[in-house]
Amino acid sequence: MRKGRVAVVGGSIAGCAAALAAARAGADEVVVFERADDRLQDRGVGLALHNDRYAELEAAGYLDAGMPWVQLARRPWVVREGTARAGREIGVLPFPFRSYNWGSLWQELRNRIPGVVDYRTGAAVARVEPEADGAVVRLADGGEERFDLVVGADGYRSTVRAAMYPDTAARYGGFLAWRGTLPADRLPAPREAFSEQDATTVAFPGGHMIVYRIPGPGGRGTDVNWVFYTSPPAAEGLRFNDPATTHPRAATAELTRRQHELVEEHFPPYWQEVVHLTPAESTFVQPMYDMAVPHFARGRLALLGDAASIARPNTGSGAIKALQDAAGLERALRSADSWEEALHAYDTDRTPVGRATVELGRSLGRAQVQETPEWAAMDQQAIERWWQEAGGGYGFGGQALRR
Ligand SMILES: Cc1cc2nc3c(=O)[nH]c(=O)nc-3n(C[C@H](O)[C@H](O)[C@H](O)COP(=O)(O)OP(=O)(O)OC[C@H]3O[C@@H](n4cnc5c(N)ncnc54)[C@H](O)[C@@H]3O)c2cc1C
Repeated sequence: MRKGRVAVVGGSIAGCAAALAAARAGADEVVVFERADDRLQDRGVGLALHNDRYAELEAAGYLDAGMPWVQLARRPWVVREGTARAGREIGVLPFPFRSYNWGSLWQELRNRIPGVVDYRTGAAVARVEPEADGAVVRLADGGEERFDLVVGADGYRSTVRAAMYPDTAARYGGFLAWRGTLPADRLPAPREAFSEQDATTVAFPGGHMIVYRIPGPGGRGTDVNWVFYTSPPAAEGLRFNDPATTHPRAATAELTRRQHELVEEHFPPYWQEVVHLTPAESTFVQPMYDMAVPHFARGRLALLGDAASIARPNTGSGAIKALQDAAGLERALRSADSWEEALHAYDTDRTPVGRATVELGRSLGRAQVQETPEWAAMDQQAIERWWQEAGGGYGFGGQALRR
């Protein structure tokens, strides 16, 4: 049990899980500083959690079986062929994932945080100053507080990380994800084109789009979530080099035109319609970044979630890694006799996982977006071999949680 005061900077998925970890490990006081006002914006996008990783985290008390989800099972890969309405299936890979709505996942974690945790909204942290046996959190409104431990769960532009590693920043990975959601009852006919348990992947030269069902906002109804990966035109790509100025909703008319051209040129008619039926207000563009820090803990500062490492979403493991980081922090805090020992144990446990996930993301990104194979020439055997060679056989959906 670690007594003392713990600050968590950021109150999203990683931040809620970190607050839960610190409270469970016995901290006297836990304060969450979340910059956003009131309730975090419901991002309304889908998240897919590998069945096995889900089971480990449910057992560890970080996920709730009661949350609405959709069970997925297969990942058919399709290409355009002549006038075939839903395209031609070139192969099928297993996809043992449960899909969630980001908003419900966040809300459930938020509800799980015990009432003794002080979760403050509209509380932007301007700077964190490490000290020998703690750290000072300086708020944008001029306030300051001292803590025994400060946990950075403040995402890819982390302020806590800047205090630990001022020269380490997220690096643009060279491609983008367009994301969109639409209500499942707006799907075009026929129903058989897109089975309930499928995460269909439309493959084209220079990218792919994965499509699967997710629970609707607040668990009401079912939505369809798609993520379309490809590189932007060279000139457009330049502006993503600086993550400090890039907003995830960075769609421009040029980028939207680019996506529509690719869809027209390469998608089977059914999947073209899925994209075209998606309301513009529920689509956005997210640049892909990656980053790994040398250590997840340094002095009395620790990082978790995207603040600690960012892997391309092709790994299907961003949320899983954040929750596992929190479970690892709880285990380390519970079992050590000093802050130093606990943070050393956390760092040793989680830093290698962060690095391996970033590497896997690069490899899967190359194989599926930047150096795509000749999809149409592939069959079941070829797609299985290609997936193994790209590294998809281990770590896709997250590594097993160490107990
Ligand atoms: C739009 C979107 C879609 C995603 N889709 C998927 C997916 O399909 N599958 C998957 O596995 N993962 C996905 N991810 C990634 C996954 O959600 C994250 O890896 C995971 O949730 C961990 O995020 P996080 O909590 O570390 O960071 P974030 O969600 O970025 O949260 C950081 C929080 O810190 C707050 N903050 C930042 N700076 C400060 C500051 N100075 N002071 C106070 N508060 C601050 C922010 O307001 C924010 O709430 C997605 C992420 C996003 C943003």
